[in-house]
Amino acid sequence: MDFDMDERIVSSEFNSESDGDIELSLRPKTFQEYIGQEKAKENLKIYIEAAKARGDQLDHVLLYGPPGLGKTTLAGIIANEMNVQIRVTSGPAIEKPGDLAALLTNLSDGDVLFIDEIHRLSKSVEEVLYPAMEDSVLDIIIGKGPSARSIRIDLPKFTLVGATTRAGQLSAPLRDRFGVIARLEMYSPEELLQIVTRSAGILGIGIDEKGAMQIASRSRGTPRIANRLLKRARDFAEVMANGSITEETAKIALGRMEIDPLGLDYIDRLLLTSMIKNYNGGPVGLETIAATIGEESITIEDVYEPYLMQIGFLAKTPRGRVATPLAYKHLGFPMPGQK
Ligand code: ADP
Repeated sequence: MDFDMDERIVSSEFNSESDGDIELSLRPKTFQEYIGQEKAKENLKIYIEAAKARGDQLDHVLLYGPPGLGKTTLAGIIANEMNVQIRVTSGPAIEKPGDLAALLTNLSDGDVLFIDEIHRLSKSVEEVLYPAMEDSVLDIIIGKGPSARSIRIDLPKFTLVGATTRAGQLSAPLRDRFGVIARLEMYSPEELLQIVTRSAGILGIGIDEKGAMQIASRSRGTPRIANRLLKRARDFAEVMANGSITEETAKIALGRMEIDPLGLDYIDRLLLTSMIKNYNGGPVGLETIAATIGEESITIEDVYEPYLMQIGFLAKTPRGRVATPLAYKHLGFPMPGQK
């Protein structure tokens, strides 16, 4: 994605440089530690239990939802609960069919193969995946031209866990090969409160409930953002107060980061403001908005819009995006026609 992640504190994208170790230590390892997502969790628990009772590997699982909601974490928990190893890779990292073949042949029986951003697999790689998912075999073409022949190699039985931001981005043949499809939802402020409190405990950060609620309610329904805001708020609390996060220090910290009470940052506000000022609130096409604010349209669609739609600030219509009266009110613009 194109934006500078360091600049966007509320980015829900993984930033390996600043988040690496913290993400690892904060990542829940069991269903019990994994807060929220009750529907997905309950179903997965049943499928896992049934597969274990039969002595089978788990059916292939597709997890979808905006970045930072816990797809990678859930894949790790699935492997953990099945008592198998997990191999982690991503769509863009598997460039050639041979890369995937190498990954698959190195798996052990029952292993979980996690492919993040699975919608970004190339067509030729996808085609290797189909027989592997269906029959645990690999069809390899050896040689070129008239002497080329195909050989079939048996693979270990494995569970593919795929993650994508939108299930609709996946090709139909690939989507059809997943036995379990689970959609992850944005978290409620109460769930995020539990996550912030848990993370603060692990990291040894002092925080009271009101301070944690400030962070939870401004985290755009996303655990990764909640953890990141917690870390930044601690910096402010250490420099400006006694190191412990209260409602007041949290408010000051979030204000300094230009994150408003609903969790919107300057890019969200820029997006809505330019829709309102330049296009009378819409309808306006995604590409036009992208060009106006200088962001990639895919970033807008995957990262900004889900939350703006969730809080009812943005609507998608057949003719384009529309800023809603709630957005006008929040940003302090008079409603159209009420100059
Ligand atoms: P995704 O793969 O969807 O982008 P991750 O699984 O990497 O998201 O989750 C981002 C971070 O958020 C993790 O490091 C983890 O600490 C935290 N997290 C995600 N889901 C939960 C949850 N349900 N409970 C507690 N923490 C969570």
